[in-house]
Amino acid sequence: MVNLVAGVVLAQKPLSTPIGTFGFPQPARVSTRKPNPDGKVFIVMYHHFREGSNAMFRSPSKFRQDLEHLYKMGFRPVTISEYVGNRMILAQGASPVVMTFDDGHPDQFTIRKDGTIDPKCAVGIWADFAKTHPDFPVKGTFYTLPVLWGQHNLIQKKIDMLKGWGSEIGNHTYNHRFLSRLNDDQVKAEIAKMNDLLVSYGVKPNMPFCPPYGEYPHNKSLVKSFTYKGKLYAHSSACMAWDSPAASPNDAKKFNRYKFERLHGNGREMGIDYWLDKVQKGKVQVYVAP
Ligand SMILES: [Zn+2]
Repeated sequence: MVNLVAGVVLAQKPLSTPIGTFGFPQPARVSTRKPNPDGKVFIVMYHHFREGSNAMFRSPSKFRQDLEHLYKMGFRPVTISEYVGNRMILAQGASPVVMTFDDGHPDQFTIRKDGTIDPKCAVGIWADFAKTHPDFPVKGTFYTLPVLWGQHNLIQKKIDMLKGWGSEIGNHTYNHRFLSRLNDDQVKAEIAKMNDLLVSYGVKPNMPFCPPYGEYPHNKSLVKSFTYKGKLYAHSSACMAWDSPAASPNDAKKFNRYKFERLHGNGREMGIDYWLDKVQKGKVQVYVAP
């Protein structure tokens, strides 16, 4: 039951709609969890979106389920840049989730001949979900290779669409090699060539970086910045491929913007299902916006 006063909906339980700074009622908290700005952050890593048994696959129906589970549990999407910059804008009681997509596979983002997004690709599933859940927009981080989802004449359009929704594009190197097996000059070439390619599509140069296989080069400083052929390259963050949630950006001891954990977006042990179950049971304390 609500009272209507001059067009403003007032809930009968005033605690659920406190009056905000400017006198407008604020929405109810997204979750009942207590504020916890020092809690863990879920950074989920996805690759392929089709049936498959190993860690590289999430079926379209399971991905849709992930979105539903995350939403119901009060998670809302932010980007890697917002996470590492500690500028995650979240509703009260919401927990951040960073959805990351590696390798630029076509099943992440395909546009059909009629111009519509393939409803079975990751972006199609998420965009459809966002229609009925506008506070869970297609806002994630896409760590790409030159294939850039496989439809060459549509690369710019896709990058612009993703940016329009609030997503960002990151560098995943040019040839997806183990950086630990290369010398410094080879590592620089791998990173610089992909950075240049993305900049040619309008991505800002200081983009997020993700080393293939989560393997850092011997010279770890190369993931931050270096000079190659007389030009300075810098990246705003670098991430691992791992099996656990990441430290809060407020955790001065554990947080490192050039080395933070991601967990697998699939049903394997220590994947998203495992960790969401832990949250449900109160066994892992996640970041909760005040
Ligand atoms: Zn990869």
